[in-house]
Amino acid sequence: MTCAFDLDHYRELLDAARTGGYRFTHFDHPPTTGDVLLRHDVDLSLDAAVQLAELEMNHEATATYFLMTESVFYNLASSEGVRAIARLRELGHRVGLHAVHPNATLDERFDAVVAWHNPDPEYMRAPIEGAVNVMEAPFFDPEHYRSDSNQQWRHGCPHEDLARGAFEWLQLLTHPEIWAFEGATMRASMESMLDADRAARLEHLRNDRIDLS
Ligand SMILES: [Zn+2]
Ligand SMILES: [Zn+2]
Repeated sequence: MTCAFDLDHYRELLDAARTGGYRFTHFDHPPTTGDVLLRHDVDLSLDAAVQLAELEMNHEATATYFLMTESVFYNLASSEGVRAIARLRELGHRVGLHAVHPNATLDERFDAVVAWHNPDPEYMRAPIEGAVNVMEAPFFDPEHYRSDSNQQWRHGCPHEDLARGAFEWLQLLTHPEIWAFEGATMRASMESMLDADRAARLEHLRNDRIDLS
């Protein structure tokens, strides 16, 4: 098995978790033995999030998607954003806020759970009034956490450890863009994303009655 950052290997990660006897749970109760909390920080692409969400639904997995209200890459208030949230919910996933410090204002679109975007150490693990901070205890513990930041696993791809049930429980943070867009490096995945974005933006222009003749 090659540990590529693509949808095939993401599927294999889900299968590995199932082989290891894990169940997929959320941030609404403290993790217990056998829980895998699938967390997705959606930094760049709602399309990638929806693609991953559909794959998970087809594999009977549910995750928590953390969406930004202050992204420079997508607009959650646009028709596209509204559709993406509705689709994530319809697929059975949870939706939390991927917040830009210090603004953690929750509204009716979100469950009471927050993941800071690119947090500084000073506030990363601090409690947030009225919401769960995914990086505070008992939801976070370095021994029970893996992340795919910049298309690199700091402690190796977790598929083998998942398959043999090595984690008591695990918070698994993945970024949908890395898996949905092809590329052997972060740079290459980002180039794929930008290529796809051009086509999507041309479509937006057409829908906006821009004459492209
Ligand atoms: Zn792997
Ligand atoms: Zn982020």
